Amino acid sequence: MPSPYRELKERAWAANQEIPKRGLAIYTFGNVSALDAARGVIAIKPSGVDYATLAVDDLVVVDLDGKIVEGTLRPSSDTATHLVLYRAWKGVGGVVHTHSGYATGWAQARLPIPIYGTTHADHLAEDVPCTAVMSDEAVERDYEVETGNQILECFRGREPLHTPMVLVAGHGAFTWGETPEKAVYNAVVLEEIARMAFVTKTLDPSAKRLPERLIEKHFERKHGKNAYYGQKK
Ligand SMILES: [Zn+2]
Repeated sequence: MPSPYRELKERAWAANQEIPKRGLAIYTFGNVSALDAARGVIAIKPSGVDYATLAVDDLVVVDLDGKIVEGTLRPSSDTATHLVLYRAWKGVGGVVHTHSGYATGWAQARLPIPIYGTTHADHLAEDVPCTAVMSDEAVERDYEVETGNQILECFRGREPLHTPMVLVAGHGAFTWGETPEKAVYNAVVLEEIARMAFVTKTLDPSAKRLPERLIEKHFERKHGKNAYYGQKK
């Protein structure tokens, strides 16, 4: 009998293939998950499997409590972090985790990425947030769940779909979106924003943030109720 999760797994597989293709990870680094909200399950990359040999049926389907529903491999070790985000945030349909170089550089420096230019403002209207460093007590608890909690803590008062990315201090990047494809897109955008900001700060360590009016203008024309960027759908 064909798997009822075949389409979800295919989508998650394709989204995972974008990670090495877009230069966001080496070896087995990184992982993408895709949500089937109606069934209450996600499909996620198995732990430690190379992208080049990853097959659609290697994807692991787990429910929102982390119980394996389908698949023979162990799901990504970061699965619990993905699940914390799905459970907390309605409307998120895909989550990505990478250690892409520039984003992780900022995360390791424990610095939010300042909104220096319009490329950044086209995608989010604030600095890319950076979480606090995890406490020793939290590390001793369920590490992956605590990583998710760190992100939720950092997002108190924020709208996750308006700021679909975060740096986890000392660790790496998480991004998300309404779909797994959008979540991967946001991971690529984050890496580019991080690279541009690094260059900016290197050239001018006292570089200024983009003026508030320009931030609003760029964000609104793409995401506001009167958005006019791109073609009408
Ligand atoms: Zn990681």
